[in-house]
Amino acid sequence: MQAIVKESPAPGLTVATIPVPSVGPGEVLIAVRHAGVCGTDLHIADWDPWAQGRIRPPLVVGHEFAGEIVALGEGITELKQGQLVTAEGHIVCGHCLQCRTGNGHICKNTRIIGVDRDGAFAEFITMPATNVLTLDGIPTEVGAIMDPMGNAFHTVLTAEIPGSTVFVVGCGPIGCFAVGIARAAGAAQVIASDVNPKRLALAARMGAQVTIDASKHQVVQTVLDATGGEGADVVCEMSGVPQALHQAFAAVRMGGRVQLLGIPKGEVPVDFATEIIFKGITVYGVIGRKMYETWNQMRRFLTGGMFDPSPVITHTFPLAKIDDALAAIRSGDAGKVILEIA
Ligand SMILES: [Zn+2]
Ligand SMILES: [Zn+2]
Repeated sequence: MQAIVKESPAPGLTVATIPVPSVGPGEVLIAVRHAGVCGTDLHIADWDPWAQGRIRPPLVVGHEFAGEIVALGEGITELKQGQLVTAEGHIVCGHCLQCRTGNGHICKNTRIIGVDRDGAFAEFITMPATNVLTLDGIPTEVGAIMDPMGNAFHTVLTAEIPGSTVFVVGCGPIGCFAVGIARAAGAAQVIASDVNPKRLALAARMGAQVTIDASKHQVVQTVLDATGGEGADVVCEMSGVPQALHQAFAAVRMGGRVQLLGIPKGEVPVDFATEIIFKGITVYGVIGRKMYETWNQMRRFLTGGMFDPSPVITHTFPLAKIDDALAAIRSGDAGKVILEIA
C-alpha cells in the first residue's frame, strides 16, 4: 500500500510502498478515505526538537482520518465490514487511575497514532475496535477532521455556553470550529481575535459577531466594549501566543472561565494574583477529547445539522502531495487541509 512515512531521524517525509498492516485480535482494518493534516505532522516533517524527542522512525504519520472497515479481527462483534468510521487517535491503557475514573483523555500511558505507532496517512490502518466510532451518515471528509474538531467541542462544551458571551482567541482551524460550536450551543455573542484577516473572515463566516484584528486594534478594550464593560463569560485560548494568553486572562470577566487549548512554545510568566486569583476565575486545560462524551456530543451536533464545519476545509490534496499539503499549512492562510486517499 502507499503511505507517508518518516523514514529516518531527519527532516522530510517519504511517499513509500509498504505492506498492509495485519489485523490483530480486538482490532479492525480500515481503508482510509480521507485524512486531516495538522501542525503535529508539520513538526514531524520538520524534525523539530519535539519530534526528535518523541518520534522513533520508521513511522507512518497522520492521526486524523475516516474510512471504511474492510476486515475484523478476532472477537469483534459490535462493528461490521463496510461501515464508515473514524477513530479516537489516542490509544489509552484502560487501567490507570484516570482511565478508571472516566478521564481517559488524560491517561498517562497514552499512545497516539502517527506519533507513537503507525498512523493514518496510508491506504489502510488498524485500530482497536474500542477507539472506533461509526459516522452514522457524516461524510468521510468531515469524519477525517473529527479529531481536531473534537478538541474544539471539548474546549467549548466543558464551559457553560447558553446565553454566554464567548471570546475565542486565535482563529486557526480549531478556533474557527470553536466559534461555530459556541454559536450552535447557544452563546449570545461570540467574539474572535487573530492577526490574519483571512482567518478572521473565516471566523465571521462560522458565526463570530465581532472579529478583532489583534495586529491593529486593542483586543482587551474591544472585548470590554462589546460586553458592556464586564469582559467575556468564557474565553477559549486557541493560539498559545504569550501575548494572547495574557489577553485571554485580561478579557475574561470576574468569575469567568478560561479554557486553555493553545500550547505556548516555552514558559510564559503568569501574575497569578491579578490574572487568576483576584478575578475568581476558573482555568481549564484542554487535552484531546473526552472519551467518549465529546465524541457523542460532536456526532449529535453534526448529524443533527446544528453545526457545519465544511467552510473550515480550505484545501484537498491526493496522498502523494503531502509536501503541498504541508506548504498550505505553513502559509498560515489555510483552514483545515485534507488528504484524499480513496
Ligand atoms: Zn491533529
Ligand atoms: Zn490509562
